[in-house]
Amino acid sequence: MNKLVYLDNQATTPLDPDVLMAMLPYFRDKFGNAASVHHAFGREGKEAVEGSRKLLAESIQGRSRDIIFTSGATESINLAIKGVCKKYQNKGQHIVTQNTEHKAVLDTCAAMEQAGWRVTYLPVDSDGFVNPQSVFHAIGKDTVLVAVMHANNEIGTIQPVAKIGAICSQENVFFMVDASQSFGKLEINVNEMCIDLLAATAHKIYGPKGIGLLYVRQKDPKVKLEMQMEGGGHERGFRSGTLAVPQIVGFGKAVELCLEVKKEENQRLATLRDLMFKSIQDAHPEVICNGSQEQRLTHNMNLCFPGLEAESLIMKMKGVACSTGSACSSANLEPSHVMKAIGRDTEMAHSSIRFSLGRFNTEDEIHFAIDEIIHAISDLKKKSLRYQPINN
Ligand SMILES: *Cc1c(COP(=O)(O)O)cnc(C)c1O
Repeated sequence: MNKLVYLDNQATTPLDPDVLMAMLPYFRDKFGNAASVHHAFGREGKEAVEGSRKLLAESIQGRSRDIIFTSGATESINLAIKGVCKKYQNKGQHIVTQNTEHKAVLDTCAAMEQAGWRVTYLPVDSDGFVNPQSVFHAIGKDTVLVAVMHANNEIGTIQPVAKIGAICSQENVFFMVDASQSFGKLEINVNEMCIDLLAATAHKIYGPKGIGLLYVRQKDPKVKLEMQMEGGGHERGFRSGTLAVPQIVGFGKAVELCLEVKKEENQRLATLRDLMFKSIQDAHPEVICNGSQEQRLTHNMNLCFPGLEAESLIMKMKGVACSTGSACSSANLEPSHVMKAIGRDTEMAHSSIRFSLGRFNTEDEIHFAIDEIIHAISDLKKKSLRYQPINN
């Protein structure tokens, strides 16, 4: 049997069948343009969009009018950072962020540097945490925005966003959170966490690809944005372009399902993930975990196999789909910037693999994957005549 177990759910998730069912009518009969409010076709589309908007807003304790639909988290992040910075450049030209952000944030910050802005990239500790006090000290009179992600896509570390939000609020600086990995999975309350801007995407929560959102606080304080795209003035001028009604419906359904199953799902995935780690470590005690053991996403496991090359190990594990680093940077051979940030040297970084579990992984699949992984490690050790485990 040629089985392939999908353990790359942090790169993207399969579509939940219930999400597909919710979307289908909007590809066929209910095809109206949500902006064509003068006839029933359009109104049907608009109603569906507003229904989803409400579900998505409420899932983070925001209000419907705070939600802007985009093509995904990358666009949301670009709109948030560039939009806020351009609008408030008279206050100053300084951004504070941290080293383990996704490339969508880091590269947008680099673009702002090209445009003359100053960016402070805060270090993280060996578990991947940024220290809220260091955020406080980095904020100056000219700081416009602080950007810190909620949960990391490679190592799963959950940042202390509530503490950072409180500091930003007290210092009158906008706070943006890339919640691509935590949205629908962890508790998010934009008010308690003092979040002004938040990016999320449907394809990480069993929804369709090509749809995301940006939460933009409209009250206490009101956040203004400079639009990045000229056009018909959709989404109250923040983001022109005909709304992708089927995708938006799918996004709403996806978050609804997540909220329903969140607690059990997190527990189930944590149990399976812990079983994997324990079984692998029992067989190969030198294997270590990257990232925080406590404050981490329940479906993430990032392991370092000292002395073995991750690429070779992945080739050996024919029945397991997983990845080194993040999908976005795995096209090049640079060691992951996240591994570097937590202090792993190049060799350790090249020996690390991310396994991420999801809703559709069964217990059988996990047992199968454990076997594959353990055998692949043994095989590779035998083949590497020079194999010498490094003691970290
Ligand atoms: C996936 C991801 C993104 C990018 O989301 P897209 O919708 O694919 O553009 C950004 N940040 C993090 C942390 C992610 O995991």
